[in-house]
Amino acid sequence: MGAGSTALLEGANAIPAFAGTTEDKLPTFEAGPLKIKKTKETASVCAFCGVGCGLIVHSEEDRIIYIEGDPDNPNNEGSMCCKGIALGDANTIVDKKHKRTLNDRRITEVLYRAPNSTKWEKKDWDWALTEIAKRVKQTRDATFEEKDDKGVTVNRTQAIAHIGSASCDNEENYLFQKMMRSLGVINFDHHARLCHSSTVTGLAQSFGRGVMTNSFTDYKNTDVFLFIGANSAETHPQVMRHLGIAVAQRGAKVIVVDPRFTKTAAKADIYARHRPGTDIAFLYGIMNYAIENNLYFHDYVVNYTNASYLVNPDYALNDGAFSGLTEKDGKFSYDNQSWQYQKDGDAIKKDPTLQDPFCVFQILKKHLSRYDIKTVCKITGTPEDTYKKVCDLYCSTGRPDKAGNLIYAMGITQHTYGAQNVRATAMLQLLLGNIGIAGGGVNAQRGESNVQGSSDQGILYGNLTGYVGAPNATAHTNLKEYLEKETPKTSYWSNKPKFLISMLKAWYGDKATKDNDFCFDYLPKHTGGDHSHMAIFEKMAAGSIKGYFAWGQNPAVGGPNTINARKAMENLDWMVAVDLFETETAAFWHRPGANPADIKTEVFLLPTAFSYEKEGTVANSSRWIQWRWKAVEPPGQAKSDLWIAYEMFKAIRKEYKAGGKFPAPILDMVWDYDLPGHDEPDIMKIAKEMNGYNVADGALLDSFAKLTDTGSTACGVWIYAGYMFVDPVLKVPACQRRSREDKSGLGLFPKWSFAWPANRRIVYNRNSADPSGKPWDPKRMLVSWDGAQWVNNDVPDFPFKDAVTGDFITPDKSAANSFFMNTEGQGRLFAPTGMKDGPLPEHYEPVESPVKNIMGKLQNNPVAARYKGDFAKVAPAASPDFPYIATTHRLVEHYQSGAVTRNCPNLAELMPEMFATISPGLANKIGVKPGDMVAVSSIRGEIKCKVSVLPIIKPLNIDGKEIELIAMPFHWGYQGLATGSSVNDITPSVGDPNTMIPESKAFLCNIKKA
Ligand code: SF4
Repeated sequence: MGAGSTALLEGANAIPAFAGTTEDKLPTFEAGPLKIKKTKETASVCAFCGVGCGLIVHSEEDRIIYIEGDPDNPNNEGSMCCKGIALGDANTIVDKKHKRTLNDRRITEVLYRAPNSTKWEKKDWDWALTEIAKRVKQTRDATFEEKDDKGVTVNRTQAIAHIGSASCDNEENYLFQKMMRSLGVINFDHHARLCHSSTVTGLAQSFGRGVMTNSFTDYKNTDVFLFIGANSAETHPQVMRHLGIAVAQRGAKVIVVDPRFTKTAAKADIYARHRPGTDIAFLYGIMNYAIENNLYFHDYVVNYTNASYLVNPDYALNDGAFSGLTEKDGKFSYDNQSWQYQKDGDAIKKDPTLQDPFCVFQILKKHLSRYDIKTVCKITGTPEDTYKKVCDLYCSTGRPDKAGNLIYAMGITQHTYGAQNVRATAMLQLLLGNIGIAGGGVNAQRGESNVQGSSDQGILYGNLTGYVGAPNATAHTNLKEYLEKETPKTSYWSNKPKFLISMLKAWYGDKATKDNDFCFDYLPKHTGGDHSHMAIFEKMAAGSIKGYFAWGQNPAVGGPNTINARKAMENLDWMVAVDLFETETAAFWHRPGANPADIKTEVFLLPTAFSYEKEGTVANSSRWIQWRWKAVEPPGQAKSDLWIAYEMFKAIRKEYKAGGKFPAPILDMVWDYDLPGHDEPDIMKIAKEMNGYNVADGALLDSFAKLTDTGSTACGVWIYAGYMFVDPVLKVPACQRRSREDKSGLGLFPKWSFAWPANRRIVYNRNSADPSGKPWDPKRMLVSWDGAQWVNNDVPDFPFKDAVTGDFITPDKSAANSFFMNTEGQGRLFAPTGMKDGPLPEHYEPVESPVKNIMGKLQNNPVAARYKGDFAKVAPAASPDFPYIATTHRLVEHYQSGAVTRNCPNLAELMPEMFATISPGLANKIGVKPGDMVAVSSIRGEIKCKVSVLPIIKPLNIDGKEIELIAMPFHWGYQGLATGSSVNDITPSVGDPNTMIPESKAFLCNIKKA
C-alpha cells in the first residue's frame, strides 16, 4: 500500500511536562499508550468533497480509532480539513465514559414504515428485499409501456423514479444503472443534476468533454488564479494547499470574484465583489478588455479555436434574443439553423485573417463590445477601478509563458443560464490560451467525493455510461437510427458505436448479438422531455410517480423548493431510502407539521455501509479513480450499497422468473457476481466488466482504443477502460497504484491511481505546444515534437499515432485536431450546436431579480426551465414584497444536506445552527443584532433562523440602486444532532434549459425580526 511513510509511534511515552527545564530536573507523567498503538492501518479516500484526500484509517475490532491524512496521497500529502478529520465519527464516537463506541445514530437494522403508521418496525433483509421486489414488479407491470403513442418501442415505466448517488462508489453506481435501465426506469437522476450538470454541458460544448481539465496537483504551476463562484477555502479546503505552494514558490497572484468576502477572498490579491447571477457580464468584460487591448493569445486563438470559422450570415442577436427564437403556446425555443457554419461541400469555410465580418472572431468581438467596463460594473456592482485591476491581472496570462487557472463551483453552475456561465469561463480561457497547459485550465471543482464518478456511470437520465446519450423515443426508433443520428463523422465520438455496443455486450453477454441489435431495445427510451430532479418532483406531486428510490441522497433538504418536494412524497405508494442515518427524506412522513396517519406511503429504510466499511473506487474532481480499501465491517445489519443493489435485483429477478411484463431485459442482464465463501458480491468481477475485456478470452483491455463494434469486446464504461489493467511494474490494477513518481516535476503523478481518459492528467494537452509541436513554454512541457516523434510528460490527448501503421502523426495534422472530441477538432468560442439557449452566452437577469436587464428587452433566459403546480411560484422582477437578493452557500464544517455531518458530534458541535448573514446596514434597517432570530421569506414560504451580521456582505450599487444580499448555508433540516431550517424551503424551481440545474444562487426574499 505504500503507506510506510506514516509515522507510527510505539507504546507509552514519558512526556516532559515543562519545556525549557534541564533534563535532570524534568518532571514526567505517564501519557498512557498511544491510541493507535494496536490499530490496523487502511488506506482510504475522504467521503466528502471532490478533492479526494487520502486517509489512513486506524481501526481496532471494527471500530474506527483515528483518522489521519495519508502523507503519500498527492492530493493532500497528509493534511485534511475538519470534515476529513471527523470522518470516523460516522462509525465511532466517544461516549460519556470516554469509550469508543458505535455512533448510536447509525441505522443498523432494516426499518419499515407501513402505510399511515406512526412508527418504524424492525425487519430483516430477506423480508425487505422480497417486499421491495414485489412493489417494484407491481408498479412496473401496472405502468409498463412497450410502445409509445407513435408506435415506437420504448420499454419503460414512468411510475418509478430513482435518485442517487454521488456518495456511492463507481462500482455501486454501475450496478444501480444496470438495474434501473433494465427495469425501464427513465426518471433517473442524482446529485450532479443539482451541482454540476451545467458543467457537463457547458464544457463539453466548448472543449469536447464536460470535466475539470487539470488536476489539483497541477495548481502549483499556476501564475494567476481566478476564482469565480467558488469558495474553495470552505468547500474544497485542500485546494488552498496547492494554491499556497504556487504563491510561495512562483509568486502566483490570486483574484477572487464573489458576492461575499469569503475565506478564499481573504487570501486574494484582488477581491472583486459582484452581484449573484452576473458572471457572464463579469467574464465578458475581461474578454472584451483582452480583445480591445490586444492581450489575447492570438496564435493560440487562430490555430486552436474556431475563431476563423465563418457563420451563416443569417445569424443575429436582437435585444437579447438570438436568431431562431420561436414561440408556441407561450413556450419559447430556438431553431439553430442560423447558428451553423458556412460550408463548401463538407469543408467549413474559414478566414485565418479573422477579418471576415461573419467569422466567429468578428461576431464575438461585436458581441463582447457591448460589455465595456462601465456597462459591466453597472450590472455587477463591482467598483470600476477594482474591475480594471482584475482585467489587467488576468489578461496578463494571455502569453505563452504564463498560466491562468480559472476555478469555479456552484456560484457559476446554479443559474437559469448555468451552462452558458460555464461556456463563458471556457471562452475566456480559450482566448487567453489557458487550456491544455500546466497551471491553466477550467477547473470545475466537483462537489461530492464521487460526483464525477457517478456521472461517469450514467446516473443521469440522458446519459448511459461514459456520456453515451440514452436513447430517446422521438429520435431513435432502433439501433440503426440511433447510430446514424448520434455518431458524428469526425471527432473521437465517431467511435460511439464501439462504446455503445461494447456496453450492451457487457450488460447482456451472449444474449446481445448482431441479429438482435445487441439488445438495444432492452434499453428504455425516454420521452425526449424532462426527467430530471425538478421534473421528478413535479410528477410526484401530480401523482404519476408511484415508487421512488432515494439512494444515498437527501432531496428533502438538498433540492430546491423542499416544502413542496416533501409534500409531493406523500403521493408515493412506496419509497426505498438507502442511507447511513435517518435522513429528512426517509423521515418525511413524521416531519414537523405532518400527520403520519394521513400519509399512505410505505417506506423501507435500508442501512448501508460508509466509505471505509466497504471497498471500491471513487473519482475525484481531477478524474483520478482512486481505490478505497475496507477498514472495518459495517455495523449491525448494514450492508454495502453494492451488496444491497446486487441482492435487490436478484430478488426482482426472482419475481420475474414467474412471469411479468417484458421480463427479458431483467432476466437476460449479466448479474452473476457471486464470490464463493463471501457474502459480498465479487467487486473485482464488476470492476473488470466496467474496465472492458475481450469476449473471446476474457483478457482485460488496457485502452478504449481496443474496443470494437462487432461484439468482440465488452466494456461497461468505455472511459474507464484501463482502470483495472494491471500495471506491469507495480503489479496492481492501475486504480490501486500508489507511486509518487513524478519525473516531470509538474505534479502529474502518472502512477498514482488512474485518471480517465487513458490516464491523461491534463486534457487537451496538444494545445500546450505550438502548431509545429514546440511547447509554448518549455518549462511546462507536456508534449513535444522532436522532429521525428512525439515525446511527452503526460499521456498525449490527441491522435498522435496512426492506428493502423503506428506511424507518428505530424504536428501540422494534430494541430488541426487539438480538441479531438469536438467535431471541428478545435475549441469552440462559438457553439453552433449543443446549446438550447444560444451559440454565445448573453447576460440575462436571474428569474427572480431586483433590477431590469440593461442588455436587452429580454429580462430572463427565454427558454429557462419552469415547472407547474406548487413548483410554479416565482416573484416578479423588482418585487416590492421581496426586495433583497438571497443566495445559498456552504460551510467547511458540514457537507451538502448535512445528512452525515449533522450526525457527527464533532461537526455538529462546531457548527450547530442555521443562520443568515446580512450586512450591518441591513441589520440596522430591520432592527436586529447578531444572534437575533429572523424570518426570511420568499414567495414560496418562510424560514426562521439566527442572524449573523458581518461586513463580509456589503450592499451593491446596481445602476444607481442599492441592493442588499442575504446569504444562507443549505446544510440543515429537522433530523440529526444539529437541526435547523432548510434554506431550500424557499429556493425556486426554475432551471437552466440545457441541464435543468436549479437557480439556487440568486432569488428574491425579504427578512424581518422574528
Ligand atoms: S472534505 Fe475535502 S478537503 Fe476535507 S478532507 Fe475531505 S476531501 Fe479533503
